[in-house]
Amino acid sequence: MTASNIVELYGVTKAFGALTVLHDIDLNIVEGEILTLLGPSGCGKTTLMRIIAGFEPTTHGRVIIKGADVSNLPPDRRPVNMVFQRYALFPHLDVFDNVAFGLRLKKWPKDRIREVVRNMLQLVQLGDYGNRWIHELSGGQAQRVALARALVNSPSVLLLDEPLAALDLKIRHHMLAELKRIHQETGTTFIYVTHDQDEATILSDRIVLMNGGRIEQIGTPEEMYAHPRSLFCARFLGETN
Ligand code: ADP
Repeated sequence: MTASNIVELYGVTKAFGALTVLHDIDLNIVEGEILTLLGPSGCGKTTLMRIIAGFEPTTHGRVIIKGADVSNLPPDRRPVNMVFQRYALFPHLDVFDNVAFGLRLKKWPKDRIREVVRNMLQLVQLGDYGNRWIHELSGGQAQRVALARALVNSPSVLLLDEPLAALDLKIRHHMLAELKRIHQETGTTFIYVTHDQDEATILSDRIVLMNGGRIEQIGTPEEMYAHPRSLFCARFLGETN
C-alpha cells in the first residue's frame, strides 16, 4: 500500500502589501507523518501554517486538504486544528471544560462529551486533572490541555506552532517524547513549526527546511544531515542552540 497525501500545496505565494513572504511553494504532506517546517525566524513558517489552517488566504496558489480546497471550506468543516505557543486556554474554565468547549458548541450529547473528554485527558496523562483551574497547572500541563483540546474532535491534521517554546529545556525534552507517543496513539498527521534543529530532528519523519519564504530542502532528518543541499542547509542544521 502506498501512503497517500493528506495535504497538497500548489504554487502557494503570499504577499503582505509589497512584501512577498512565501514564494511559489509546492509541498505534499503524507497521511500520518510528522512533518516539520524548520527555519530561522521570519522565513515564513507561521504564515505557511496559518495558510494551511485556512486562517489566512493565499495571494496565489491552492491548499488542498483531503481533496478539498481549504478556501472553500467553512471553518467548522476544515479537518485541521492548531496548537499555539501560548496555549490560548480559557482561564475562567476548568481543565475538563476547556477540552469540552468545542464539543459543546457543536452540541454533542453530554454522555458522549464526558466519555471523549475523559479519554483525551487520559491520553495526555491528565486523567485526574479535570477539575483543576488553568492557573493551577505547570506550563507542561497547560500545553497538554491545549493538545487534548485540539485533538478531542479527532482532526485529520494537527498544526503545532512552536508549541514547546515557552517551556524550559528539561520539560521540552519530555514533551517531545510525549508528542511522539500521542502521535503514535492517535495516528493524526502532525505539521510542526520550529526554529530548533534538535526538536525537528528528534520529532520528524520529514523536515522541510525554509529560507526567505522558499523551501531549501526536504528530507528525513538523516538525509538532511548526511546530504545538505546547500551551504545554508549545512550551516543551519549544524548550528547548536
Ligand atoms: P516565521 O514563522 O518563520 O518566524 P512568519 O511567517 O511569522 O515567519 O513571518 C514571515 C514574514 O512575514 C516576516 O517578514 C513577517 O514580518 C511577515 N509577516 C507575517 N505576518 C504578517 C502580517 N500579518 N502583516 C505583515 N507582515 C507579516
